[in-house]
Amino acid sequence: MKAFEKNIRKVEPYVPGEQPQNKVIKLNTNENPYPPAPGVAKVLRELDTDRFRLYPDPTCAPLTEALADFYHVNPDQVFVGVGSDDVLSMCFLTFFNSEKPVLFPDITYSFYKVWAELYRIPYECQKLDEGFRVVKEDYFKENGGVIFPNPNAPTAIYEELHVVEDIIRANQDVIVIVDEAYVDFAGRSALELIDKYDNLIVVQTFSKARSMAGMRIGYAISNPTLIKYLNDAKYSFNSYTMNQAALACGVEAVKDKAYFEEGIRKIIQTREWAKEELSQLGFCCLDSSANFIFAMHPEYDAKEMFEALKKNGIYVRYWGSERIEQYMRITIGTREEMVALFAFLREYMKR
Ligand code: PMP
Repeated sequence: MKAFEKNIRKVEPYVPGEQPQNKVIKLNTNENPYPPAPGVAKVLRELDTDRFRLYPDPTCAPLTEALADFYHVNPDQVFVGVGSDDVLSMCFLTFFNSEKPVLFPDITYSFYKVWAELYRIPYECQKLDEGFRVVKEDYFKENGGVIFPNPNAPTAIYEELHVVEDIIRANQDVIVIVDEAYVDFAGRSALELIDKYDNLIVVQTFSKARSMAGMRIGYAISNPTLIKYLNDAKYSFNSYTMNQAALACGVEAVKDKAYFEEGIRKIIQTREWAKEELSQLGFCCLDSSANFIFAMHPEYDAKEMFEALKKNGIYVRYWGSERIEQYMRITIGTREEMVALFAFLREYMKR
């Protein structure tokens, strides 16, 4: 080992789902199967490329203003970043700066652990119960901050707002981050509690309900004080996080509320039908409130099924980690994609 090795910041990175470049039925990374709002394509076509000479607006004002308008908050309550991964990473860096451990569920978005390790933040995982639900009392103890997704990933289980509020209320000496990447497919958002609790940050994304994973836009909404701390950290890291195209497309996507709502309706409808199909095939599905379903079959090995699906051009997600080794996570695609999935599974089970 070279002497300099000991000074290198080593980290076991997050492993993103596969992005195969050939045509497959892609149900593995919770993308939206429908295109973004039609105005987005138009804005992109009409983008003034002469302006690419210039740096983008570091404050991201048009986008923070559009989001503020949409969510009925002030622009100084909104922070945007390169996907919610960027926003969440900034939140870890900014708000989790204690000797005490940050708390999050044992089965959850696996990036949390990676950021904690990258930034040397102590953390402690709280076990979900047998039904993969959050045990709120586990978060009623001394800690350096709390983060959890609602709905949770990869379980897709949504906790009602009163459970979320109980956790926020019990933790007013630390920052609580509610990661709402999938909330548009679920129920009430913790945004309702922003004015009531000054320790709360809600993080959302354009990658799911707004069909723009490829544009990389995420945002945090909170009170102006916490948003200022986030901006201070951002300007100490990279002033120009959002490129001009992402800013323009983001604004356009937020404007089209009707398209957004219709897209959500279609996914929920397909999801509810997919749950029924899966249970007819003998799968046990957790009660999904997201754009994906976490499912297991008591008679078929999940890893083998995942591999057989992949060999046949149908990509779902499988982890094989503790407690979830028999589960697959299936993103809700178009109805046609789901039909192809079920047809394959039906054949697979005949073998
Ligand atoms: N939070 C959760 C719970 C997620 O599942 C994801 C998607 N992988 C993200 C955040 C990040 O999404 P994005 O960076 O695309 O906004």
